[in-house]
Amino acid sequence: MRPEILFPLFAPLRSLPGIGPRLEELMGKLVGPKVVDLCWHLPVGLVDRRKRPKIADIVDGDIVTVEVQVGLHIVPRLKKLPYRVHVSDETGEMQLVFFNPHGDWLTKTLPEGATRIISGKVEFYQGQPQMSHPDHVVAPEDIASLPLLEAVYPLTAGVTLKPLQKAVKAAIERAPELAEWQDGPWLKAQGWTDWHSSLQAAHAPDSIAALDPHNPARARLVFDELLANQLALGIVRLRMRKLPGRVIRGDGHLRAKVTAALPFALTGAQVTALDEIYSDMGSEHRMLRLLQGDVGSGKTVVALLAMLNSVEVGFQAAMMAPTEILARQHFASLAPMCEAAGVRLELLTGREKGKKRSDVLDDLAAGEIDILVGTHALFQDEVNFKALGIAIVDEQHRFGVHQRLRLQSKGGVGTDVLVMTATPIPRTLTLTAYGDMDVSKLHEKPAGRKPIETRALPLERLEDVVGSLHRALAGNAQVYWVCPLVEESDVIDAAAAEDRYAYLYEIFGERVGLVHGRMKATEKDAAMARFESGETRILVATTVIEVGVNVPSATIMVIEHAERFGLAQLHQLRGRVGRGADKSSCLLLYQTPLGETATARIKIMRETEDGFRIAEEDLRLRGAGELLGTRQSGLPEFRMADIAVHGDLLAAAYDDARMILQRDPELEGPRGEALRVLLYLFECDDAIRNLRSG
Ligand code: ADP
Ligand code: MG
Repeated sequence: MRPEILFPLFAPLRSLPGIGPRLEELMGKLVGPKVVDLCWHLPVGLVDRRKRPKIADIVDGDIVTVEVQVGLHIVPRLKKLPYRVHVSDETGEMQLVFFNPHGDWLTKTLPEGATRIISGKVEFYQGQPQMSHPDHVVAPEDIASLPLLEAVYPLTAGVTLKPLQKAVKAAIERAPELAEWQDGPWLKAQGWTDWHSSLQAAHAPDSIAALDPHNPARARLVFDELLANQLALGIVRLRMRKLPGRVIRGDGHLRAKVTAALPFALTGAQVTALDEIYSDMGSEHRMLRLLQGDVGSGKTVVALLAMLNSVEVGFQAAMMAPTEILARQHFASLAPMCEAAGVRLELLTGREKGKKRSDVLDDLAAGEIDILVGTHALFQDEVNFKALGIAIVDEQHRFGVHQRLRLQSKGGVGTDVLVMTATPIPRTLTLTAYGDMDVSKLHEKPAGRKPIETRALPLERLEDVVGSLHRALAGNAQVYWVCPLVEESDVIDAAAAEDRYAYLYEIFGERVGLVHGRMKATEKDAAMARFESGETRILVATTVIEVGVNVPSATIMVIEHAERFGLAQLHQLRGRVGRGADKSSCLLLYQTPLGETATARIKIMRETEDGFRIAEEDLRLRGAGELLGTRQSGLPEFRMADIAVHGDLLAAAYDDARMILQRDPELEGPRGEALRVLLYLFECDDAIRNLRSG
């Protein structure tokens, strides 16, 4: 249960003064639904009103605070003309300009003959200084209410700076003093202050330098966030480790059948990864391993052999994929191999319904199904395994960290867990998403793969591309044509894909297929099936094909508006070709002029196919927040930390979390108590439930 001291911070935004339902909704979209979310919404800029010149000394474009005498009001004859107020001091004159002023507001705030202090940006018009809509107008006795330094926050349509500043201020006022959870000497060595004053300071920058990500107040908050993340991962891991694992050491009879049936030999990297996995499975500890391997590196076979190891000793195995398409594809590619081994494989997704579903569930509980493949439907309450030996999560960067934590703690007693990811994640990011899970890497690509020739062309050359497709199709090639991601809206993406489809259909007729996220699952499957069978030769698609799709005969990948995709995404897409023995190519069509970052991305794409290098470059180019688009990346979404710049703090948080859990694994000591509050503060409630007295 969340401690009472945090209740005010976890109240909804509308509990703050001045926030009604409309503002709550808009602000909620920007920062999040709770008061605490405002605390994490750190300023990105600063308005400095400390310049206090006389009117004659004002420089064009300056933000100033000046004391003036209010002169004549000039009321416009037409409403659309500006309302002007003359003001002056002993050195000169200036005009204040207002558009559409409300009622008598101006005569009240700026009565003729009064002295006022005004603050805002001055611009010269025909040699005369004027200020449109001063940010502040106060009487001299109220000078204290005029902020000379103002924090500027990221905004969104419908939320302007003032109400947001006000809301943040109110949120910080709600923030309680909390017992220190950081290690005293460390805090001192860093020159950091307590949480409460750091929070205040981070929201009250007094110079541009204070906005620096390494500014002490900010760094303190960032470290808190990272420590909460590392601690949460550490707790779950510790808990998993403590649960007795099953010792699984199959005799190899099923695996031998499959390896004999494979048309290829395992790569060295696959063999090494399997050795590591078998050794984990054979130990008394529970396996918690991450298998990282680029697209096409052959993770599926590794997964199958690990699952068969479990089946050999009479346990079951499960494999969970992030999407319906992927689950079906895994099922299809595992089916022949499972048949060769004589084990029973079934599929369970949201689409298996009625009798079929209940049969699967019954047989699963009876232990008659050896391997179950599916979507997250697998981990619902109604799904009961007789004895689940190993759970494989093929996450291909689509599951969130919390989802995975929940899943791991739910997997069943002693179940080994293998998480597979096709995203070669830089080491720093692995830490944030997986803590210190054991890692196996498939560095090597299966033998016989030819390098993918990557070329870049401006979009104006579209007709040339179409011409080359004529030749390629004559040579029996199959082509993916990926359409731009226009917005975070699958409706618009779908429209772009439909247009391109219509265009190509005019030229190539029935040989063109279409698949996008707005289609019904059955339509998608049908479109994929037609492409896989070779009935269609060009598949126009949105990024739904990014993940996992495997059609080895496809050798050409055209990516339209390549400049709009991230590096990792381009890499994922390119990985859809080059899966068979034939030479493949990737065409990046871009819109000119090409920006600096896009140029760099395309250059890297042409230089290398090494996913690990691409991931590092991506991190460098974009910063972690944007890497892969955090939302779908399976990486935690940090509110304040930016892994690209806070890598050192992350490493420190990792060390600290380890040390803390070594000394006080249940967080029961005095520091432990404070750390629990930290975990609640950053909404790691899942992790706390794993503690003895959570
Ligand atoms: P991913 O790691 O992207 O999941 P897959 O497991 O789908 O990769 O493998 C991609 C392709 O490579 C499949 O067609 C698979 O049969 C093939 N493959 C896997 N291992 C090898 C190998 N050792 N030698 C040759 N081909 C392999
Ligand atoms: Mg795969």
